[in-house]
Amino acid sequence: MKAITVEPGRAGSARFEEFPEPGAREGSVLVEAVAVGICGTDVEIADGKYGWAPEGSKRLVLGHESLGRVIDPGPRETLRRGDLVVGIVRRPDPVPCPSCAVGEWDMCRNGKYTERGIKEIHGFMSERWRIEPEYAMKIDSSLGLLGVLLEPTTVVAKAWEQVSAVGHRAFWEPRTVLVTGAGPIGLLAALVAVQHGLEVHVLDRVESGPKPDLVRALGATYHAGAAADVGFQPDVVLECTGVGAVIGDALQVVSSGGVVCLTGVGSGGRVGTLPMADMAANVVLRNNVVVGSVNANKRHWYRAGETLARADRSWLAHLVSRRVPPEEFEKALKREPDDIKVVIQFSEA
Ligand SMILES: [Zn+2]
Repeated sequence: MKAITVEPGRAGSARFEEFPEPGAREGSVLVEAVAVGICGTDVEIADGKYGWAPEGSKRLVLGHESLGRVIDPGPRETLRRGDLVVGIVRRPDPVPCPSCAVGEWDMCRNGKYTERGIKEIHGFMSERWRIEPEYAMKIDSSLGLLGVLLEPTTVVAKAWEQVSAVGHRAFWEPRTVLVTGAGPIGLLAALVAVQHGLEVHVLDRVESGPKPDLVRALGATYHAGAAADVGFQPDVVLECTGVGAVIGDALQVVSSGGVVCLTGVGSGGRVGTLPMADMAANVVLRNNVVVGSVNANKRHWYRAGETLARADRSWLAHLVSRRVPPEEFEKALKREPDDIKVVIQFSEA
């Protein structure tokens, strides 16, 4: 079979090449790849800036936003041939730490977890892959190709749970949400917030292209420009850019008692114009919480599946803005202006 592989740490080493069939040790369920989504992490790995090959291997099969069709469910009867499944990405660390021991591998304390297509386990950009039945999430079959959006949706499902958990430290009746960034994570965050019945505002830099319309189609309000200028104080900010100036604005604009959830990973940039202690004083005097959120455990994967199953299919379809065959994977790794979610499509859903 063929797979898209990379030598981690070496820029430009990605290839679509012959690769051995997945071994039985990788899981009892055999899956035919349908599609794999591309995110910033894949681009970083292909650029040699991130990623680790499995022990004893020089190359890593790329891809962690999967969608596939079960070819052989294996001895356990939990899945059937033809089911559409998405593979959970992270595996608990072997120690395990207390969080991994209770199945909350997303909260791993020692960093020894592994991740498919990222850290020491092969990913899903191969014509066939195997998975353990307990890490294969069956999706609503009517989603078809849109099931490839499940993994990014798990990220916002966890973020929302974190916001809710923090909110309930006191009387909690949020009405307004500001999402910063209208990429795939931001748009899916807006979807989750709308489904929870909140008044949702989404902010991004662009003034044209598909993003403003997609936000309005959700019944949410689109803002172009700076978060400091949105003209209201949101109860919740879901920060999806990782940009220093946006984070600084989020901290200043959030309401008294409000929660800022950071999901974006960036670097550099000054936090607004306020010195650190002044920023902290604001947080103290207004009972704000800033919470970081990464990855997802099985509870969030389940909730993300519910979110997608309830969502409007044509709205979701607009998020998958470009499909590329595996032999042209390099095109998928290059951003184009109107890209939202680019997927590599291996077979028909
Ligand atoms: Zn752990």
